[in-house]
Amino acid sequence: MTYVFNEERGFKDEFLDGLTAAYARYLRRVPGASAVMSVTAPAMGRVSVIIGGGSGHYPAFAGLVGPGLCDGAIVGEVFSSPSAEQAYRCVRALDGGAGILLSFGNYSGDVMHFGLAAQRARADGMDVRTVLVTDDVASAPRDRISDRRGIAGGFFVFRAASSAAHDGRSIHEVEQLALRVNAATFTFGVAFQGCTFPGRAEPLFTVERGRIELGLGIHGEPGLRTIDWLPAEELADVVLAPLLEERPVGATRVQVLLNGLGSTKYEEMFVLYRAISRRLSRAGIEPVSPEVGEYVTSLDMAGCSLTLCWLDDEIERLLAAPAAAPGFRAGTLSWPTAGAGSTRGPDRATAQPVSGSVRTGRSVGHRGRHRATPAAQDVVAAFEAMTKAVSSISDHLGQLDSVAGDGDHGAGMVRGFSAATRAAALAGPTVADVLAAAGVAFSDAAGGASGALWGAGLIAAAEYVRTRNERLSRQHTAEPDVLLAFRALTAAQEAVIELGQARPGDKTLLDALTPFVDALGTTSETTLPQAWRSAAIIAERAAAATADLASRKGRASVHGERSRGTPDPGAISLAVALRAAGESFAATFDHRDGQTADS
Ligand code: ADP
Ligand code: MG
Repeated sequence: MTYVFNEERGFKDEFLDGLTAAYARYLRRVPGASAVMSVTAPAMGRVSVIIGGGSGHYPAFAGLVGPGLCDGAIVGEVFSSPSAEQAYRCVRALDGGAGILLSFGNYSGDVMHFGLAAQRARADGMDVRTVLVTDDVASAPRDRISDRRGIAGGFFVFRAASSAAHDGRSIHEVEQLALRVNAATFTFGVAFQGCTFPGRAEPLFTVERGRIELGLGIHGEPGLRTIDWLPAEELADVVLAPLLEERPVGATRVQVLLNGLGSTKYEEMFVLYRAISRRLSRAGIEPVSPEVGEYVTSLDMAGCSLTLCWLDDEIERLLAAPAAAPGFRAGTLSWPTAGAGSTRGPDRATAQPVSGSVRTGRSVGHRGRHRATPAAQDVVAAFEAMTKAVSSISDHLGQLDSVAGDGDHGAGMVRGFSAATRAAALAGPTVADVLAAAGVAFSDAAGGASGALWGAGLIAAAEYVRTRNERLSRQHTAEPDVLLAFRALTAAQEAVIELGQARPGDKTLLDALTPFVDALGTTSETTLPQAWRSAAIIAERAAAATADLASRKGRASVHGERSRGTPDPGAISLAVALRAAGESFAATFDHRDGQTADS
C-alpha cells in the first residue's frame, strides 16, 4: 500500500518538489522539464551523464543525481518511461559541449523515447550516446543478452560512467566504459509480495503466501517461476547460482549489491548477505566494498535482488570515487556552489525550458477551436470520443497489461488521450495542425511504449496530410476522404513499424492497426464514417484474436507464453479508440450532411 499521497495525478511532481526541497545541496529541478540536475551541472567542457526512467524506483533515478554522480535524471510517471520531449529538454539543459551519455534500462518505452530525444539532440549538433542497461539474467538467455532488462545493476553502470565523466574522459571513452561495466554486471531478483500503485487499493500483482517468485522485474512484471519459501541459507544459493553461471573466466574480484525492492527490511537483507558472503569466499571470490540497501526499488514490493559486477582495476577505481547524492554518498567531496569555478549552475543560455514539438518543429498554437476548419473540428471531436472510450476501460486495460507487462497501459492511454484532446482543441486551423499537436501531446503525457508509438503515428499522419494539402492546393484537385484517411493511416503505420520494429503477429497494437488500414484500403464504402466503422469492426476482431498469440515485442515479450489467452492491451485500446472515432465521425458527418473537406 502507499499511504502518503494527495492525488494520483500529481504524485510524481510532488515527489520531485519534495526531493529537491530536501536535498537542494545536491540537486535541483531542470527548469521546464520533468527532470532533476546536479548542482554542479552543466559542467562546461566535460561529458554529462543523464539517466532516467519511471518513478517508483527511488533512489533510481532522481536520487542518484548530485556532485560526483549523475548530472541529471529524467523522471517519468510511476513505472512509465519519461517522454522524448522531457528527455530532449533535459539533454538541452545539461549540454556542457563535450557530449552526453544517456543511460537507462532496456525497456521498449524508454528505448523509443530516449532514442527519439537523442536523435533530435543530434540534429541540433550535440554528441549524444545511449547505453542500455541489460543486467537481469532472468529476462533472457545468454544468447539473447541484448534482450535482457535493466534492473539494479544499472547503479554500477551509472556510477562508473559518472566517475569517468568527472575524470574528464571523452564521450567515446565514457560510452565504452559504460558498455564494459554493463557487460560485466549481472542481477537476479526474487519477490515475496507484490506492489501497489499510489492511490490504488489493489496490488499490481500478488505472490501467494508462503511462496517466492523468482526472476521478476521491477515493474511488477511476473517472475519466471515460484517456489516454496526457503530459509535464508538456501535462498542465498537460489540467487547466487544464476549469477555464478555468468562469472568470467579467472575473475575473482566483484562488487556486490544486495538491493531491497521496497519493503524488505535491512536486517533481513543482512541475514541474507551473511549467507551470500560465505558462499562467495568458498567460491574464491572477493567482494569489494559490498553494498546492502535500497538502490533500485519497485514501490512497496517485498523482495530483493543480488547484483555482481566483475571488476578490473579501472572499473574498481571508478566505483570507488567520491560521490554525493540524496540516495548515495561515498568518500568526501566538496564542490563549488552554483556559478563558481569551472562548473556553473543553470544559466539562461542552457537551462531555459525548450518549446516546440517533436519532429515537426512547430509549436502548438493557441488559435482556438473556433478557427478550426470543419474537418479539423471533426478530428477534435473524435479525440474527445476516443478519450471517453479509453477512460471507460482504463482499469481493464491495466489488468490486461499486468498479465505479462507492467499494468500501466490504461493509465498511460488515459493520460495520452486527455492531453492529446486538450492540445487538439487549442490547435488549428487544419487537420494537419490538430493531428500534429495531438501527437506531440500524446507522446509527452503518456510516456511508455504506446505513448511513443501513438505519438509517432499521429505526427506521421499529420505530415502526410500537410504535404498532401500543399500538393493538392497547387493542383486544384481534391482527394476523397476515404483515400486520404487510408494514406494518412498508412503513414502512421509505417512510423509505428519504423520506431517499434514489430512485425504482424508479434502481438502488438500493429495487429489491430494493420487490418484496419488494409480494410480502409480495400473498402467499397464511399463515405468516411461508413468505411471507418466497418474497418473498426475488423480491427476489434483482430485485437481480440491477439489472445491466441504469444508476445514477441515490448515489455511483455519476456513472458511471451504467459500472455497467451489474453489479448494485447495495446491492440485492444487501439481498436476501442478507432471504433469511438468512427462513431464520432458518423455523428458529426450526419450533423453537417457530408461537409468534411479539409481546407
Ligand atoms: P510499456 O510497455 O512501456 O509499459 P504500455 O503498457 O503503455 O507501454 O503499452 C504496451 C503496448 O504497447 C503493448 O500492448 C503493445 O501493443 C505496444 N507495444 C509495445 N512495444 C511495441 C513495439 N515495439 N511495436 C509495436 N507496439 C508495441
Ligand atoms: Mg505497460
